[in-house]
Amino acid sequence: MNYDQIFKDALTAIRQENRYRVFADIERRVGRFPRVLLHGDGPTREIVVWCSNDYLGMGHHPQVIAAMQRAAGAHGTGAGGTRNISGTSHAICELERELARLHDKEAALVFTSGFVSNEATLSTLARLLPNPLILSDEMNHASMIAGIRNSGCDKRIFRHNDLGQLEQMLRDAGPTRAKVIAFESVYSMDGDVSPIGGICDLAEKYGAMTYLDEVHAVGMYGPTGAGIAERDGVQDRVDIVEGTMGKAFGVMGGYIASRSAVVDAIRSYAPGFIFTTALPPGLAEAARTSIHHLRHSQAERAALHERAVRLKAQLREAGLPVMPSVTHIVPVLVGDAQQCKQASDLLLREHNIYIQPINYPTVPKGTERLRITATPHHSDAMMDALTASLVSVWESLGLRRDPAIPAQTQFQTAAAGG
Ligand SMILES: *Cc1c(COP(=O)(O)O)cnc(C)c1O
Repeated sequence: MNYDQIFKDALTAIRQENRYRVFADIERRVGRFPRVLLHGDGPTREIVVWCSNDYLGMGHHPQVIAAMQRAAGAHGTGAGGTRNISGTSHAICELERELARLHDKEAALVFTSGFVSNEATLSTLARLLPNPLILSDEMNHASMIAGIRNSGCDKRIFRHNDLGQLEQMLRDAGPTRAKVIAFESVYSMDGDVSPIGGICDLAEKYGAMTYLDEVHAVGMYGPTGAGIAERDGVQDRVDIVEGTMGKAFGVMGGYIASRSAVVDAIRSYAPGFIFTTALPPGLAEAARTSIHHLRHSQAERAALHERAVRLKAQLREAGLPVMPSVTHIVPVLVGDAQQCKQASDLLLREHNIYIQPINYPTVPKGTERLRITATPHHSDAMMDALTASLVSVWESLGLRRDPAIPAQTQFQTAAAGG
């Protein structure tokens, strides 16, 4: 058997669909964010990143960097083991207390990433509950889909944010079986938001648990940065909240926060938590510092939203097809995989602007887009340059300008997000 040929054929297939992913080899430098060095594409040059999930630039915050350096100096680099076998550090215990306070929950549990926290928690929940049914929003992130799949339990997928269909499914499920509603707050590709309160109403009415991914909201929404549930005043009604420390908090790692019994059960049963080396003290201390800072400081959140509102208005004014996001995400529709890649290439090559193309399976076919994120560190001048560059790219590629968005297609099997 020619093993290599099999892999080459698989790559050819993905190339033919314009889905072959090319990563930009970039070097972030403290003090220059959102400017970075681009390697490997001719001479090394400085470009501006417009697609970072370090939404607030906290990855370059002096206090956060100092916390990581201090912890590495004091406690070394690695954790030294799994949480069970010698890897539970004081830093990680403090971090979990901070996270529980952030979400006003009894307890929190840290994982090595947001992906792992979703996969491990959902798959384990379903194993612990009697005759479980998971009700999952069709736009849920790949990590939730993986958890639900790996649990092997019954699942039903409801149309995106469709309370009517969700209620029908809850009613059909009957009162005796365990039910978990899994959904996100901010959906990061469209920048829309779920009706958390309405979903909690249904959960209460039909005796379901709620599992909410706030990965794209923590740090950025709510008076203390706990997310959309905090902003909407429904935090206490969500059973399990899940988040990441890798996006707005600028570090790495994932977590859940919930009631003590839930957290303790996941801690005790989830292989994805038990059998992996713990987050090292440096990451834990940096994350805790960032979270603590954003619980008390409004400046970063205010600047983020001001930048996003301004950018959306400016791009619309320039006649670009900005999709109707109600959050800090600024998606600009292209609608074709190859053109989306071409637009991204052109922006990088001619305009020193880095925006990764977002293609299927991350978004449905026909809705390929450039997903732009403006951070507090993007200046007015950078926004003006971005706008002019996009207009120029739109003209040279003959891209559509009408903001009519294709109706959301059925989107159940593909993995969203990233
Ligand atoms: C990025 C992402 C995750 C995974 O978080 P990581 O910490 O990056 O592993 C989970 N859920 C959603 C919605 C995401 O976009």
